[in-house]
Amino acid sequence: MEGDLAARIAAVAAVAARHADTVDADARFPAEAFAELKAQKLMAVLLPHVFGGEGRSVADAAQICYALGKVCSSTSMIYAMHSANVACVVNHRDDSEHFLACLRRIGVNQMLLASSTTEGQNGANVRASAASLVHTGDIVSLDRDASVLSYGADADAIVTTARRSPESLPSDQVLALFFHDDYSLQRTSKWDVMGMRGTCSEGFRLMAKGRREQVLSEPYDRIHRRSMVPVTHLLWAACWAGVAAGAVTRAQSFVRMVARAQKGALPPGAPCATQASLSLSTLVRLVDSALANYLARASDGKALEELGFQTELNLRKVSASELAITTVMHAFNACGIAAYRNDGDFSVSRSLRDILSSAIMINNSRILANVSTSCLIGGVPDSLSRLQ
Ligand SMILES: Cc1cc2nc3c(=O)[nH]c(=O)nc-3n(C[C@H](O)[C@H](O)[C@H](O)COP(=O)(O)OP(=O)(O)OC[C@H]3O[C@@H](n4cnc5c(N)ncnc54)[C@H](O)[C@@H]3O)c2cc1C
Repeated sequence: MEGDLAARIAAVAAVAARHADTVDADARFPAEAFAELKAQKLMAVLLPHVFGGEGRSVADAAQICYALGKVCSSTSMIYAMHSANVACVVNHRDDSEHFLACLRRIGVNQMLLASSTTEGQNGANVRASAASLVHTGDIVSLDRDASVLSYGADADAIVTTARRSPESLPSDQVLALFFHDDYSLQRTSKWDVMGMRGTCSEGFRLMAKGRREQVLSEPYDRIHRRSMVPVTHLLWAACWAGVAAGAVTRAQSFVRMVARAQKGALPPGAPCATQASLSLSTLVRLVDSALANYLARASDGKALEELGFQTELNLRKVSASELAITTVMHAFNACGIAAYRNDGDFSVSRSLRDILSSAIMINNSRILANVSTSCLIGGVPDSLSRLQ
């Protein structure tokens, strides 16, 4: 990573760290960190220069998620969700003047995009929508039960799935982009949860109206496989790796502190700190290799849609989540009561509460059930080299 980007990320991480405790305690949007992300012009790194961005790769966005995850999980997760939606709208953009102007508006104003896929009681069945777009001349409207919508109240725009038309099947979906002045939100549920409290993932009735050109013409099915799933899973995994790294740092500091106080004698939890380091390095390697695999295919839609790649992406989401939880648990065991406390320098309480969300952000069980057939078809690797 070049120095300039590293310095800008460090500036945001410092602000995020300063406000992390109140974001968690008050379950509030990390406004200060996002003001700094905007000031550092990091909101649109995935957009090409022509739209006010920097034309950077998903690997750079992942570095940002990792760095922020170490200090404030919610800030990192919000940035990950936002960036995945930026990737969707720019990778699958229409070339209408209106849509290109929308992308410039996002980049120049460093806008924050929220994502609405969860609807009603449908859980993470992302590939089916109940609410449909209604076309009236050049205007489209949508009335949707957005039952989990992170930072909905603080977003500048919402990217939402929808049934193509009232006559369409639930799986015949499109992706639409609505700006703040296109929609109104009526709160339907609060976000009183154990972790990721700063994502403010409340429920809303979303009522939107925009121009026909704000609906991407590419079917959502393709956007889902080529951008939504890969970029979301990679950036979520980078965020979780960051959260795990933050916990490991605390475990290592704890062991050092005790060793100093006890003239070199290690605390009983020291081996757990070693296990935490070990599983963190496995997790980081997993994220790195998944990113490399994605980047090698990024400009080839067919390669992105290959069944083997899609299966691997899904399985890596599950592995990243499990490894991150395991890593944080090792860090917790390394610090003992100091980790169990909600206060103090070695508390792992927030990391543990936050990282458990990884198992249900698209439920791991749902993912495993969905890919079970393709896993059977794929068999096992012929040789070790195929594991690279
Ligand atoms: C921190 C965080 C942030 C999130 N942010 C967003 C976001 O910004 N946008 C977004 O769209 N989603 C968001 N989600 C939601 C996420 O994408 C998944 O939809 C959700 O986590 C899946 O939860 P689950 O495991 O309970 O669902 P699943 O296991 O996928 O589904 C639960 C199933 O249980 C059944 N069920 C559950 N409750 C009821 C009920 N009351 N009545 C009848 N049936 C029921 C339904 O059949 C449903 O299919 C977020 C989730 C988390 C944890």
